[in-house]
Amino acid sequence: MNPNLPIALALPHKRESLQAHVKWGGRDVTVGGGAPVRLQSMTNTDTADAIGTAIQVKELANAGSEMVRITVNTPEAAQAVPYVREQLDRMGIDVPLVGDFHFNGHRLLTDYPDCAQALSKYRINPGNVGKGDKRDKQFALMIEAAIRWNKAVRIGVNWGSLDQELLASLMDENSRRAAPWDAKPVMYEALITSAVESAERAREIGMDANQIILSCKVSGVQDLVAVYRELARRCAYPLHLGLTEAGMGTKGTVASTAALAVLLQEGIGDTIRVSLTPAPGESRTQEVVIASEILQALGLRTFVPSVTACPGCGRTTSTTFQELTQQIDDFLRAQMPVWRERFPGVENLKVAVMGCIVNGPGESKHADIGISLPGTGEAPAAPVFIDGEKRMTLRGDSIATEFQSVVENYIQQRFGAPVVTPQN
Ligand code: SF4
Repeated sequence: MNPNLPIALALPHKRESLQAHVKWGGRDVTVGGGAPVRLQSMTNTDTADAIGTAIQVKELANAGSEMVRITVNTPEAAQAVPYVREQLDRMGIDVPLVGDFHFNGHRLLTDYPDCAQALSKYRINPGNVGKGDKRDKQFALMIEAAIRWNKAVRIGVNWGSLDQELLASLMDENSRRAAPWDAKPVMYEALITSAVESAERAREIGMDANQIILSCKVSGVQDLVAVYRELARRCAYPLHLGLTEAGMGTKGTVASTAALAVLLQEGIGDTIRVSLTPAPGESRTQEVVIASEILQALGLRTFVPSVTACPGCGRTTSTTFQELTQQIDDFLRAQMPVWRERFPGVENLKVAVMGCIVNGPGESKHADIGISLPGTGEAPAAPVFIDGEKRMTLRGDSIATEFQSVVENYIQQRFGAPVVTPQN
């Protein structure tokens, strides 16, 4: 051990970047330039169904999404966008909407100015703006719309829809090298070139550098890390980070976490999305839960109170411990849309739910509020620790309900506004 070097946290040193503003009403979501890493998501409703889309946007926003992207693929969808916005405004949801455009975005943004105005950011895929001599003109029409309405854009390249003409020209160039590269590095180069050159073209058209966000999404973890490291080196634009087509359930969650954690730890990434395929019947908000957990686990943001729980083992033979953990976690998350306003700072709360006396009291003392449930062979009592001190012991069948009220009271007292007594 070196006594001269204390062990320190290696928190990421954020890459310096420009700052884009994604605004709606009084809300200004800053991306990059030292702002916190932003969390975004995307609906899977038909945007032409304005009510259904507004409901899902509201769910995503309430789960913590700071921007929500919606598909704008048809005239019907473009016509519905202002109604989606109106519904949200009526419900008091000011989350900025991002329009996802492919193939016909130039026409939709030109023909439906109310749509162009109601959106706060346009996602433009340079691989899908048009072919041959139409490409530059159609790209320019979209950029001009963003300039006219003062909207941010994400130039979002995806390896599933990479500009094939650019790729072919880089392949040709590669074949003339004395020692040609493998196909993968050429593809990486094409992704990055497409993003950076499109941003340059947008600047030539007259777009402010602070209106631009870039992304280069791929579906392989190591590919994503390689591409973003290089993209971050080659430009100063804020970066939207996400593993595209991450997949379902555990696979999608783990792959997204693995990729995003590596890059975020290196200070790369200004806004993230987890592209999770929902299981049938699963809520779309799961992608927001995972994205927020990634940022929270890395210590970059706090969104909801954290619940520390042990995995359980041979000492936990009943399901009480798992049920209580689930119940408390669900309860805290469900309250957040209201608590965010009412109890500022509540997201920093730490709760521990532990299965037995081995680590229960110790871990509970590290939390703001913790409970150590009785393991097999222990007396049927659950000591509760508040701010590191044992304050009470819960017994009987209603431990879960009682513990929930203890947590609620603690939150009221610690994060509630002080009661002001009127003066005579
Ligand atoms: S705290 Fe107790 S129940 Fe939980 S994993 Fe450790 S030994 Fe097992």
